[in-house]
This record gives sequence, structure tokens and C-alpha cells, in this order.
Amino acid sequence: DPFSTKLQVPEALTFDDVLLRPMESHVEPDEADVSTRVSTNVSLNIPVLSAAMDTVTESDLAIAMARNGGLGVLHRNMTTEEMAVEIERVKRADELVIRRDNVVTARPEQTVREVDEMMEHEGVSGAPVVDEDDVVLGIISGTDIRPYLEVGESDEVRKAMTDEVITAGEGVTAREALELMYDHKIERVPIVDDDDRLAGLVTMQGILQRREHENAARDNDGALRIGVAVGPFEDDRATVADDAGADVLFIDCAHAHNRNVIESAREISETVDADVVVGNIGTREAAEAVVDFADGVKVGIGPGSICTTRVVTGAGMPQITAVAEVADVASRHDVPVIADGGIRYSGDAIKAVAAGADAVMLGSFFAGTKEAPGRIITMNGKKYKQYRGMGSVGAMRSGGGDRYLKEEDDDEGFVPEGVEAATPYKGTLASELHQLVGGMKSGMGYVGAAALPEFKQRSRFVRVSSAGQTEGHPHDVMITDEAPNYSPQE
Ligand code: 5GP
Repeated sequence: DPFSTKLQVPEALTFDDVLLRPMESHVEPDEADVSTRVSTNVSLNIPVLSAAMDTVTESDLAIAMARNGGLGVLHRNMTTEEMAVEIERVKRADELVIRRDNVVTARPEQTVREVDEMMEHEGVSGAPVVDEDDVVLGIISGTDIRPYLEVGESDEVRKAMTDEVITAGEGVTAREALELMYDHKIERVPIVDDDDRLAGLVTMQGILQRREHENAARDNDGALRIGVAVGPFEDDRATVADDAGADVLFIDCAHAHNRNVIESAREISETVDADVVVGNIGTREAAEAVVDFADGVKVGIGPGSICTTRVVTGAGMPQITAVAEVADVASRHDVPVIADGGIRYSGDAIKAVAAGADAVMLGSFFAGTKEAPGRIITMNGKKYKQYRGMGSVGAMRSGGGDRYLKEEDDDEGFVPEGVEAATPYKGTLASELHQLVGGMKSGMGYVGAAALPEFKQRSRFVRVSSAGQTEGHPHDVMITDEAPNYSPQE
């Protein structure tokens, strides 16, 4: 073929090139159902994931994501031991039963004053009293200590404790525990094994906290869900993450359409219990190569805010077209699609769903939240947090280079595909998610779809000219107050 035929190029579009065509609607945005599937066996109440980046997702953000119904994906710039600890923190965050090692206990021969000080120090208001064999003898709480004048501060705990202690067995449910608490007007129930030894503690506060997050993403045991990034050749990390209870493993590669990567991903998927999402990809051919074993696919070759892949390598796919191509293939195999990168506004997120995504992954959107790793930096009186690409020099130095299939060259250093930046500090993740998901629901309202599967089928795009794009942003005015969900582009 003459080279000039290469210039008869197909068009590829991204977020700003398209808008959703408004349609007749019977749907009030508040009622829109945004629940979805991120992988074959994992459903979420909101279609949102946080990026596996060392300035975005560690356990604090993962906990907040899951409590709000989404999924945090832990980055992999840490040792496997550190990763296991992070996974465990998420899995235990909303645990019904506080396990033995984490329960503050008292001994009968301690003085009331000692125990009072200890409880204050530990931030608890009651403690089971156990003997040297860990058998539960009673329970002591602040109310046992202060109002009872006949018990002095220097008396022994055995004199001040309640010895008719209400306990429950290890299989207790939240409902049963709550009933015990109401019936006996108590706030904590020690959990005991068959020999009456302390196995854990259920508290009223813990139960109420779980009720507060009724939208949370939980596994079958009620623990919060977590995703974990693993390198394409990190079988060991995959096994450790799986054993630690990760719900979804994300094969973390900038270009997964690579024979060795796919072979290794397939092997990992055969050895773990967790679902395995393969990414990133951006074409229908890449989707064809992985849909037979992947539990989900992640799309994004170069759309990220901190990403320089397209300028450095000359390769990439505008994100709306990439999502649509992959979704054409994946939907035929019933494999969920995640759109990863480039989402700046809630409108971008819902456009990604219209193009065929089941969920979206965001980095920059969450990097400025309180729960993201890193400190707040102040510049010119404004607050920021650090945000850097995992292909930036700094992040690759701390261990993530193989995402870009790179080894450090001692003399010249890495060839980076990302930059290090700062992003405005934004407050809590919950308020960011509220704006993001609220905007997506409003988009569903404009299309008249009550749930995401229906929205995916029903929505239509129109093409936007550059004049149309200008029209779509605030124009010909000077913005005087910042909106919580819009900041002007530079
Ligand atoms: P954002 O939401 O900030 O636009 O994009 C986040 C996504 O960018 C991540 O989930 C990841 O897929 C991608 N990404 C993260 N770091 C880099 C990088 O250094 N280079 C490139 N090419 N992509 C990155």
C-alpha cells in the first residue's frame, strides 16, 4: 500500500468532542440508580473507582471510597508486606467484631484509677475484665467508676466491675448483638469462645457506624471492599493480596496488549480467588485478546491528567472512542468495562458510561481530598496536595517503573511518561463523590434513564464543534464565586 493511504485516518473522539443528546424523561435525577458491576463478581452502589497511584489510593482513601459505595484501588509503590497491612486496615475498618488483639481489657487486681486512666488514654469508655487465662470475669465502664461513691479510685477493679456480664458467641450477627444491647441497656458485648475466653467485642458505636454507611461496598462477610494493583509479572504480590482478602486485582500496565503481559495475567487469574481486571487497553483488538479470561477490562491509553504518554511516545487513543471500541467487544462477552483517566467533570464520567463503560476511575479528581496520601502544601496562600503520575520520575524511583515496562538505565535515568504536579486541596472525599455522582445522575435525567444499563442503551451523542465547546463552558462572564463542581480551565 502507498504510505499516503495511511493518511485516510479514522476519527477518534474524546470527552469534549461529544455531548449527550437530551431526550424525553420520566426520571427524576435523585431517583436514578447508579449501581453497577466493576468485574464479574463485584458490584458497587456507585460506578466510581479511585486510581492506583501513590498520591491517590492508600487505606484511608480506600476506606472512604468503600464506605461511600465505590472502590479504592491500592497502588503498588510499596512492599508486599506493607500492602498486606493496608488491605487488612480496609477489611477491618468497619468490622462488626473488634478482634481480641484490638480490645482494651482490664485485670481484676488493677485499681480503678489505673483502668480509668488506661481507658481515657485508649479512647474507650469500657473494658472487659479478664483473668490470666483470658476468661471474661466482668466488664467495667466509666459509669461503674465515677458515680458509685462507695467504690474509691484506689479500690480494685473486681469490686467496681459488673460481674453479671452479657456475652455472645463468635457467630453473633449485628441484629442479635443490638437486641442484647437494647434488652440489657448495655453498649458493649464481649464475644467469647467455647471456654468463655475473650475473642472480641461488639460495640453499639460500631454497629451505628455501619448503619450510617448503608450504601457501602461490602464483601459477603460485611467487610469493606478493596481493589489492589499488581504488576503484570508480580505473581507473588497477587498471591499475597489475594490471601489478604483483596476483592479485585488490577493488572497494572500502561499497555496490556502485549503477549507476555497477557500470558502472565492469564496465569495470575487462574491462581487467585479475587476477580482480575486487565488493563490498560484502548482498542477492540486488545479487548479481543483478553476477554476470554479477564473479569473486567480497564481502558485508557494516555488520557490521564498527569500523563505524557501521547507526547512522549506518539501513541494513544482519545478516550471516548477507546471506551466504545473496547465496550463493543467486552459487552458481547459480558465483561465489565472501566474507563480510566481524563475525567475532569461529572459530565465526562457519564459520557464515558454512554460510550459503554460500566464504571469510571479517577486520579486527579481525588488527589486533592483529605483522605488522599500526602500533606497539604500552601502556595501563594492557596492549599494544594501533591499529585504525580506513576510514570513520573519521582514515582518510578519509588518503584513503579515496570508499569511502563521500564528498567532504570543507570546513566541516563528513566524515560518518564508522566509529570509531578500539585492539585488544589478539596476537603473530604464524600463531598467530591457527592458532586461527581450527583452530576452523573442529572445526566441520566436528561437522557431519561432510571438505571445505568438502560442509560447505556438509550443515550445518544452529538458531535460538538469548537464553537460548541466554548458555548458549553461559562462564557462572556467573569466568574465571581467558585462552584463546588466547576473550576475554569486555564
Ligand atoms: P486522571 O484521573 O488524573 O486524569 O488519570 C488517572 C489515570 O492516569 C490513572 O488511573 C492511570 O491509569 C493513569 N496514569 C497514572 N500515572 C500515569 C503516568 O505517569 N503516565 C500515564 N501515561 N498515565 C498515568
